[in-house]
Amino acid sequence: MSIEYRVGGIAPSILRLAKPGQYQVDEKGYYGQFGGAFIPEMLYRNVAELREKYLTIMQEPEFQREFTQLLRDYVGRPSPLYLARRLSEKYGAQIFLKREDLNHTGAHKINNTIGQILLAQRLGKKRIIAETGAGQHGVATATVCALMGMECVVYMGELDMQRQAPNVARMRMLGAQVIPAMSGSRTLKDATNEAIRDWVNHPEDTHYIIGSVVGPHPYPDMVARFQSVISAEIRQQLLEKTGSELPTHVLACVGGGSNAAGAFYHFLDHISVQLIAVEAAGEGINSGRSAATTVLGRPGVIHGSKTLLMQTDDGQIIEPYSLSAGLDYPGIGPLHAHLHQTGRATYLQATDQEALDAAFELTQLEGIIPALESAHALAKLKDLELKPEHVVVVCLSGRGDKDMDTYLRYLPKEFRTEI
Ligand SMILES: *Cc1c(COP(=O)(O)O)cnc(C)c1O
Repeated sequence: MSIEYRVGGIAPSILRLAKPGQYQVDEKGYYGQFGGAFIPEMLYRNVAELREKYLTIMQEPEFQREFTQLLRDYVGRPSPLYLARRLSEKYGAQIFLKREDLNHTGAHKINNTIGQILLAQRLGKKRIIAETGAGQHGVATATVCALMGMECVVYMGELDMQRQAPNVARMRMLGAQVIPAMSGSRTLKDATNEAIRDWVNHPEDTHYIIGSVVGPHPYPDMVARFQSVISAEIRQQLLEKTGSELPTHVLACVGGGSNAAGAFYHFLDHISVQLIAVEAAGEGINSGRSAATTVLGRPGVIHGSKTLLMQTDDGQIIEPYSLSAGLDYPGIGPLHAHLHQTGRATYLQATDQEALDAAFELTQLEGIIPALESAHALAKLKDLELKPEHVVVVCLSGRGDKDMDTYLRYLPKEFRTEI
């Protein structure tokens, strides 16, 4: 593997200043009509400080050197781009898997938490807060706090803490304080409210690490840039393997949209590349139990930005549902709302059952147990009209260890053994 990690290097344009391209954020924080920073006055100072400094800090050679080195030596990047031979045979195209599941902590989320903690240090912050739903972002945050010896407080809905006990245990072992959010439905949005309240009360010494391409500007752009290492590597790896940097299709699942943003980033201006994002349809788009935001959502404000979200006529957020904890978010990041509205990316939906089937299929064909989230992207291979000359990259956002209980509950007959 000859990916070069020189100073100023990886991800050649990962930290490049946003050019005023059609799909990049503008200086007010908008992607077309979506984005912005809708925040209480008490947060103005924190968010303004971040907005004024993030690009400058991210471009410093010393920042890039440290970020690059940690991605290589601690996370294990570059993650492999694997030509899945038997999967390719089955679908009649060249299918590559971008193996984010092989990263330290088992998913793409660590790319962003490493970047943000380095940024927090340069802003002089001593304390990190985060919110988490399924616990994956909480674990990635607690991990980098342990790495840097920084204080870590993670807010998590009390109900989610019961449902995701192993991740709560991991965070505690990593030294984080996990604080239950007891209000409302005791899930992600309540944890987010608690985290914001904490930030308002500790504006000087605390940085809030948001885990996806959501939140007020500059978070969506900042997180997309940290995750863009995914597509920077894909381009170099494809060049070596196929002679061309550009695939015909890139697929990724979307909760808030960070692994998809990272996998799409360096292809946004190459319109020959079809970008396909897959949302969770849960038990069916119109079943009342889904997280199919681009179908069911309307413009509104959530977590500090204007985007598409699932809401009632009087603006109450509708509780999303997906069997995969990482995808049951009622909105999508503003970049995705824009890519959807402009038609630059196609948004498809996969049900719980389709994702389960795809997870069992990948396991049997390739010996890789994917995260249930990533399986949503795999599930749509069957719906594309693929041809042998197509080069398809699927972002395998994470590994399936955390989903074993679910997989065992739904194990197809042919996998079961009588005792
Ligand atoms: C959190 C998570 C997701 C969803 O988050 P995005 O911001 O949409 O990427 C997808 N896959 C895995 C493995 C996750 O942990």
